[in-house]
Order: sequence, then structure tokens, then C-alpha cells
Amino acid sequence: MSRQKKQFAVIGLGRFGTSVAMTLQQLGHEVLAIDADEERVQKISDQVTHVVQADTTDENSLQALGLRNFDAVVVAIGENVQANVATTLLVKDMGVPFIIAKARNALHGKMLEKIGADRVVYPERDMGQRVAHSLISSNVLDYIELSPNLSLVEVTAPGLFVGKSLLQSNMRAIYGVNVVAIKRNEKLIVPPQPTEVIQESDILIVIGSTDGLQKLEVLE
Ligand code: ATP
Repeated sequence: MSRQKKQFAVIGLGRFGTSVAMTLQQLGHEVLAIDADEERVQKISDQVTHVVQADTTDENSLQALGLRNFDAVVVAIGENVQANVATTLLVKDMGVPFIIAKARNALHGKMLEKIGADRVVYPERDMGQRVAHSLISSNVLDYIELSPNLSLVEVTAPGLFVGKSLLQSNMRAIYGVNVVAIKRNEKLIVPPQPTEVIQESDILIVIGSTDGLQKLEVLE
């Protein structure tokens, strides 16, 4: 079954915006990439469905793009916070159904939420956290903060747990975390049964409080 083709617009073609636009295109969707800088627009022009050079803080230019009919708009303008906020506000006013906006910091993120961004992303902060967590423990393969005290982590099964079932590992009681999936070779066991025995080289995908996960991450 093929997934329905969607229409996305990405505003601001820095490294982040370009990566979002190209990935959506590669996933088979229609992408309109927009930037005020002609050179940036040209660079991506043969890799996405449509490109437009426009200053999105200008209401008339923005109106002409017909963004209201898109499934989602990504505001990826970076350095210029004022342009980022103004664009998000104008896009929201146009009635776009789903807006994702990139924030530079917490205060900027709060502003974007107040304006009505449906999702605010912090790519630099998130990637920094992921790199830091993977450095602290060689067990950590990936780390995603879902909210200030809830995270999802992908860890190589600590030796301590190998040969034990999930129930016997007692992870839920000791660390307050839940194993939501186990990657074993190429297979994904989801959700694992409490009786599932953890094997060497299993990768555990665990959700839980940031504190609990930190204790789990450093187990040998
Ligand atoms: P990254 O880290 O993703 O490379 P960045 O934080 O360095 O991005 P910028 O390069 O500052 O982000 O901004 C991304 C793009 O947004 C730039 O190509 C810039 O031309 C574009 N941009 C800035 N202001 C506007 C605007 N008013 N309208 C349209 N595009 C804009």
C-alpha cells in the first residue's frame, strides 16, 4: 500500500531546511522550497518539486504562494529570529493546518508556541544532547528528549541483563523505565513480552524519566 502523497513547504534553506526539504522529497512527497536568497533557491531547484524566491515576511509575497492548501509548512529560518517569528505568524494567519518552526532557544520557542506553531523544534540542542549522551556511555546509540523529564533511549543491552527476562531484569521497579521494543539482529520485537529473555547484542529501546534512563545508560 503506497502512502498518500502530501504537499509540504519549507521556508529557509539553511542546512536544516535543506535537509528537511530533500528528505521529504526523497520520501515521495511534493515539496515547495522557499528562500529570500536567490542563490540558495537555485542550489536546490533540481532536487525538489518547486522552488520560489520570496521574502516571507512580506505578506503579499507570502499570500501569492497559496500555502493554505499545503499539509504542513516548516519555518526553518535560523539566525534572523524576527523573520522567523514574523513568518510563523503570517503563515498561521493564513490558516495552514500544521506548522513546524525551528527555534534558537527556549524563549524563542515559547514565542513560537504562543503564536500558534503546532510543533517547535530545537535541532542544535537536540543533536547536542544526543551526542553528549552517546559520549557518556558507549552503550547509548541514540537519545531523544520527548519532554523535560521524559526521554527515549536506544541502548545496547547491559551485560547485567543478558540471560534475564524483562520481568527478571526489574528495570521498571529499579529505574522506572519501560522497554518498548527490542532490536535483535534485523528483527524488531515490539512490544516485547515480560517473559522475553534479553540476549547479548540486543538493542533495547527504552522510555522513561531522564533520571532513570541516566542510571541505566551507565550500566555495564
Ligand atoms: P542552518 O543552521 O540550518 O544552516 P541557520 O540557523 O544558519 O540555518 P540561516 O542561514 O540564518 O539559518 O537561515 C536559513 C535561511 O533562511 C537562509 O537561507 C536565509 O536566506 C533564509 N531567510 C532568512 N530570512 C528570510 C525571509 N525573510 N524570507 C525567506 N527566507 C529567509
